Amino acid sequence: MKIIMLGVPGAGKGTQAKKIAAKYEIPHISTGDIFRANIKNGTELGNKAKEYMDQGLLVPDELVVDLVVDRVGQEDCKNGYVLDGFPRTIPQAEALDSALLNMNQKIDYAINIEVPDQNIVDRMSGRRACLSCGATYHIINIPTKVEGICDVCGGSTVLRDDDKPETVLKRLNVYHDQTQPLIEYYANKGVLANIDGTMDMADVFAAIENTLEK
Ligand code: ADP
Ligand code: ADP
Ligand code: ZN
Repeated sequence: MKIIMLGVPGAGKGTQAKKIAAKYEIPHISTGDIFRANIKNGTELGNKAKEYMDQGLLVPDELVVDLVVDRVGQEDCKNGYVLDGFPRTIPQAEALDSALLNMNQKIDYAINIEVPDQNIVDRMSGRRACLSCGATYHIINIPTKVEGICDVCGGSTVLRDDDKPETVLKRLNVYHDQTQPLIEYYANKGVLANIDGTMDMADVFAAIENTLEK
């Protein structure tokens, strides 16, 4: 099962992608997590990506496409994967499609999690991410058992630099400009499923399971 997650920043793509990956035993591939790991390790890719991420802008296509094409070609992706945060532009989607075509594969589902912009600033200012394992929480909706400590690995949970309100507004604009056209792109391919992302986390997941098992 090859799945793409779509939705505004903060819609719950990462939260749901992790649940999908666990249930269907497929890798969760998050380009944001890959960039953050590179930033943490001080790699050249990380340094380049950080310049854009801090401003709420997309990292240029050429820094992300090869990385993802290479990743989905690896052995553990043979039975499927859930792509979270990629593609984010039409050229990225086209590059992915042509790479998949070469491997005789295609995307089976594009899960579009719908949450209005008005809900997003609150969600993002409450988001906390674990620096060590990437788990995400929300201080009110999905709190850690102990404040500031990751339930999974005991690492510290922090507010991401790009989750400050002014950067979030910028990211929403970037989304509407560059990423939203992908909804029509995948609708035209007949693989789009719209899911109401304002429900609570378990109900959103139940709706996704329903779609994947239909
Ligand atoms: P969110 O899901 O909250 O929007 P991500 O963790 O997916 O955040 O991405 C964080 C940042 O990483 C983005 O704002 C962007 O700068 C960069 N990024 C991640 N994926 C891509 C991509 N496919 N293309 C360009 N930039 C990306
Ligand atoms: P994305 O990957 O789309 O940027 P996340 O999965 O990181 O989004 O979720 C953004 C924030 O909203 C996180 O703090 C997360 O814990 C919280 N969240 C996720 N799903 C829900 C939900 N259904 N209801 C309320 N808050 C949620
Ligand atoms: Zn952790």
